[in-house]
Amino acid sequence: MAHELPPLPYPYDALEPTIDKQTMTLHHDMHHGTYVKNLNAAIEKHANLAGKSADDLIRDLNAIPEDIRAAVRNNGGGHVNHSMYWKIMKPKGGGDPTGPIADAIHKTFGNFKDFQAKFNDAGAKQFGSGWVWLAGKPNGEVQIVTTPNQDNPISQGLYPIFGNDVWEHAYYLKYNNRRPEYLAAWWNVVNWDEINKRYAAFKSGKEAHEPALAHH
Ligand code: MN
Repeated sequence: MAHELPPLPYPYDALEPTIDKQTMTLHHDMHHGTYVKNLNAAIEKHANLAGKSADDLIRDLNAIPEDIRAAVRNNGGGHVNHSMYWKIMKPKGGGDPTGPIADAIHKTFGNFKDFQAKFNDAGAKQFGSGWVWLAGKPNGEVQIVTTPNQDNPISQGLYPIFGNDVWEHAYYLKYNNRRPEYLAAWWNVVNWDEINKRYAAFKSGKEAHEPALAHH
């Protein structure tokens, strides 16, 4: 059996005008779909990896056989990253953060505006394709990190609380080369309830597994 593309949890046009329908359709069905397909192809000949979640596969990449390590890193990461991305957005999202994640942001960055500015700046400066994250550290604190390509903070021992996709495929049709505009607008669709769930899982030492990532 195989890893599966989770359905988008809302219609393709639900995040308009922040993210347009065509971008969402291509991004979910084609880009994420291809990561899932390529991940399955990579692990096909390694029966010992068949029972592992995508999170587990990318947590310790050195444990992955060398012949498929790059494929698992890129496509397993792509699967984990996008499964998170769809869920931490929602129609009519945005606004100020709520609950424990708001407390963590205020404690670490002073206020939400300063945090947003630092997060957006890090995302804008990520050269080429990649992601910008708020990640949890082993000591329970949070920090902004960026990763290239489809790398996920989990491979560095950090917890991916939430992240924004700064690959051109995430924004180019609507924002063209203006990545900072996409980064600024993206906060209008952020789902703080889902982010609080992930933050709570981080604080309780649990994994960021979502049912959609369970192995079938
Ligand atoms: Mn993407």
